[in-house]
Amino acid sequence: MTTSQKIKKTDLGKLLNQWSQEFTVLVPWRENGLATWAKWNGTDTSFIDWYRNTVVPAKAHFLPSQEEMFRFQKDEKGYHIELPDADEHKQLIFGIRPCDARALTIVSPIFEELYEDPYYLAKRNNTLLVGLACTRPCDSCFCTSLGINPAESIDVDLMVTDIGDQFLIEGISEAGKELIAGASEVKEATEADEAKAKEIKEASYQKVTRKVDTDNIKEKLSVCFEDEEHWEKVADNCISCGICTLLCPTCFCFDINDELVKKQGTRFRSWDSCAFSIYTKMPMENPREEKWRRVRQKVCHKFEFHPMSYDIIACVGCGRCIRQCPVNWDITQVLNNLPAKV
Ligand code: SF4
Ligand code: SF4
Repeated sequence: MTTSQKIKKTDLGKLLNQWSQEFTVLVPWRENGLATWAKWNGTDTSFIDWYRNTVVPAKAHFLPSQEEMFRFQKDEKGYHIELPDADEHKQLIFGIRPCDARALTIVSPIFEELYEDPYYLAKRNNTLLVGLACTRPCDSCFCTSLGINPAESIDVDLMVTDIGDQFLIEGISEAGKELIAGASEVKEATEADEAKAKEIKEASYQKVTRKVDTDNIKEKLSVCFEDEEHWEKVADNCISCGICTLLCPTCFCFDINDELVKKQGTRFRSWDSCAFSIYTKMPMENPREEKWRRVRQKVCHKFEFHPMSYDIIACVGCGRCIRQCPVNWDITQVLNNLPAKV
């Protein structure tokens, strides 16, 4: 007996239309030649053929690059705060890749454990994720070194795999199973369909050829932490543009600013980057004034400090920091060439 379902490729639009009645459905979209996300327009499923991954990860739907937190007015009695209405709109992201779905699993505890971030959590709790198996990983991807199969995910609600002229659909969460239970055009998959999907998943895994040796990585980084000469070499060609962190699905730093015009103001937050020389600038000093300290922070935070607190590496091997870096800085080379062997 099979546990999956399937839908004809030509019926995908109908399924997305059906979901659109309840959710804002977001799908991969191409704008000015760049892969991004857009609201489903009711007709165009051509992304199935060209889509590999988006430039900006899905984190932007939970932690937007700029977000209003509240407004305020000032009068003779002091400040008056006007909070935004709770964000309760339901969204469904169709086509998220397993690496980016894992990134949300890694990042979400930051926004819910020590401090409950209402802005992030409202969006996360109102969003369903439908994963799309990645069968054409980029040369820069190294997700398998982080324990991720590009065509499999337990971090989504539903997982969809292209098996030719049909998609195989697997219910992962209860919410995902409910979503598909009420969907027309969906049929029970056969054993042959499931066998085909398994074959595709195995082949996708093999296509990720870039590797990082993550064995004892925390310890290796700890041993060379004070090796200034090494980190200076590592940081040599970086121009501190911050792209690698802003586009990283597991980076979540933001800055908070007030904008006051006459007596009306807005408090907003916007993405920030530890690559910037003014990041965490204190009244008296910048704790990471030298570039090599900032580059070291980026690497060690992901592979040493975050695992110390959360027992998981804060990198999913999506390769964006390699693909988008203007000077070809490559985190896999850095990690595979640490001076310290443990
Ligand atoms: S994208 Fe490249 S140049 Fe820009 S901060 Fe990151 S490593 Fe440095
Ligand atoms: S560090 Fe690079 S490869 Fe790892 S998750 Fe961030 S952008 Fe992707």
